[in-house]
Amino acid sequence: MAMPSESDIAANLDRVRRRIARAARAAGRDPSEVELVAVSKTHPAESVRAALAAGQRVFGENRVQEASAKFPPLRNEFPDLRLHLIGPLQTNKVNDAVVLFDAIETVDRPKLAAALAAAMAKTGRRPVCFIQVNTGEEPQKAGIAPALADDFIGECRTRYMLPVVGLMCIPPVDAPPAPHFTMLRDIARRNGLARLSMGMSSDFEVATALGATSVRVGTAIFGARETRQDRAV
Ligand SMILES: *Cc1c(COP(=O)(O)O)cnc(C)c1O
Repeated sequence: MAMPSESDIAANLDRVRRRIARAARAAGRDPSEVELVAVSKTHPAESVRAALAAGQRVFGENRVQEASAKFPPLRNEFPDLRLHLIGPLQTNKVNDAVVLFDAIETVDRPKLAAALAAAMAKTGRRPVCFIQVNTGEEPQKAGIAPALADDFIGECRTRYMLPVVGLMCIPPVDAPPAPHFTMLRDIARRNGLARLSMGMSSDFEVATALGATSVRVGTAIFGARETRQDRAV
């Protein structure tokens, strides 16, 4: 598939924003409560630049290395750009991650929480954190098991003092997403967490109806990805 042009990306962004707004209003929500995270993984800096030109400021990347090659020059030009890490984070990359990202959406195990706390103390940077919950309890997928989520959220807050603001999930590919979004919302509510990162190109309207405060949309903005390295796990 050909790389979309700058005007394609602008039109796609406009369409996605309208669909989010429509889904929010239909659910009795204020569209401004739903942040669009444009997922630019595997796409070149020119595509990100096209989105920036169209007013988009929040981006998602799933790899520290790829993001650190692509984003620092763009950030110099657009100081209000914000970057979310949405892929698995290895503990040996936490220092780079806290310097580069404004939000880390994939906190899912005590060892990582401890490493993040140490990296934040060392660098003085405190990106907000989302706890990733493996709502489908898929063995190959990252995320804390739902049954362990309350304890882990508590540990991240009181033991590691991480700035935990919300939860994130990636529902199983072959299942209806709504029960997963509802489960994530329920865990957030009982833990007093305001933010819910849920919904991708195929289901961001469902997620918006069920309370998403961020939707992570890649394909519907930037077109299909050519590589397989980006699989959400
Ligand atoms: C790739 C990815 C997305 C975006 O997926 P699309 O289907 O292209 O919108 C969202 N969230 C995560 C965690 C991802 O890895």
